[in-house]
Amino acid sequence: MSTCLLGCIADDFTGATDLANNLVRSGMRTVQINGVPQDSAAVDADAVVVALKSRTIAPQEAVAQSLRAYSWLKSQGVQQIYFKYCSTFDSTPQGNIGPVTDALLDAIHGPGQGFTIVCPAFPQNQRTVFKGHLFVGDVLLSDSGMAHHPLTPMHDANLVRVMQAQTQRRVGLVQHSTVAQGPQAIRDAFAQLQAQGVGVAVVDAISNQDLMHMGQALQGMPLVTAGSGVAIGLAQNWAGQLVADQQASQLVPASGWRAVVSGSCSQATNAQVAHWVVSGRPALAIDPLALAAGQDVVAQALAWAKPLLANGPVLLYATANADAVKAIQAQLGAQHAGELVEHALSAMALGLVQLGVGQLLVAGGETSGAVVQALGVARMTIGPQIDPGVPWTSVHSPAAPGRAVHVALKSGNFGSVDFFEKAFAMLEA
Ligand code: ADP
Repeated sequence: MSTCLLGCIADDFTGATDLANNLVRSGMRTVQINGVPQDSAAVDADAVVVALKSRTIAPQEAVAQSLRAYSWLKSQGVQQIYFKYCSTFDSTPQGNIGPVTDALLDAIHGPGQGFTIVCPAFPQNQRTVFKGHLFVGDVLLSDSGMAHHPLTPMHDANLVRVMQAQTQRRVGLVQHSTVAQGPQAIRDAFAQLQAQGVGVAVVDAISNQDLMHMGQALQGMPLVTAGSGVAIGLAQNWAGQLVADQQASQLVPASGWRAVVSGSCSQATNAQVAHWVVSGRPALAIDPLALAAGQDVVAQALAWAKPLLANGPVLLYATANADAVKAIQAQLGAQHAGELVEHALSAMALGLVQLGVGQLLVAGGETSGAVVQALGVARMTIGPQIDPGVPWTSVHSPAAPGRAVHVALKSGNFGSVDFFEKAFAMLEA
């Protein structure tokens, strides 16, 4: 049994599997745990990711949950803490990235003390940070679909400004010209910023090479805050202590029916759902207004799916374009609409697994959190990658006694247009 080296706190469930996927691929044996464990039994892995659903809850609650996760990780003896958020920096001026970062720094270093970084870059998934600005593909964050996100619309791509609105600490910037010079230059920049009273530094990164430089510069930093990309460069810091394991874990063979549950309204998911529907595969749209009117939409959806499952995968979706979401939110309120849909989709996922679904795709970060909680999944074993940021995992659920269920949690903007079809095909091989 080895001691856990890296302890991670992820603010949503898809983000947690995304991070675990990058850690496994860089050679760290990784366990994902959903929620903060009650016991302190030692985890046998190089890295452990505690998945929370804290991205859009009240900031004080996000802080409380994150601090509980931190205490548990400390009890595991980890050498470094990694606070993982979305590669599109999903947050509001109230948080939760800033308040959680402040609370973790306070807990580790003392009130107002300490230093950490902010870096949502994940170049392999077209998320880059240059001169402190976050790009999604070729456009600024604020010009991407994220301006229309149902819960965390992002209207500003300047991460220094966005983070400064959320944190008590001064925010600085390490520019790409410094990052490109390598780890020592980055460390020097950290020292310089700290001397100027900066507590949080946004760090530019536009390539995996930048992430590798940054990884070395982060050696020994007690708290790192980032998207999943920065993890790529961290494993090298423990090179001598890792069991060579470059392969993603092998999962048990997949079995059972196949289904997709989608509550993401991101552009990529909209395209994936459209691709599925246009190709004539079975798909059922869930109407939030019918939910709000008290109709038993869950039972109706399960009755629709049941006779179809034997013929191939089915899709249940609340996914809608920005205008449709706005119209729903105007009637129900954004928060209420989100909760209604999450609750319904997670009940459907539970029902599907009880019907014998053993291969389940979930689209949407908040949606995935709700589904995994409904399934009562405590741990996830990370398997092969479907697309960057999204691995297949194997889980046990009380809803499926005696059999493993394959689950993939897809963050809204991840995955190619044929992601759903591709994911199932992978398990047939
Ligand atoms: P993503 O990963 O794309 O951000 P999430 O699941 O995190 O997806 O967030 C999408 C949110 O939008 C969820 O709270 C979901 O319940 C809500 N939602 C889904 N469909 C609709 C809809 N048609 N109208 C309003 N809200 C919706």
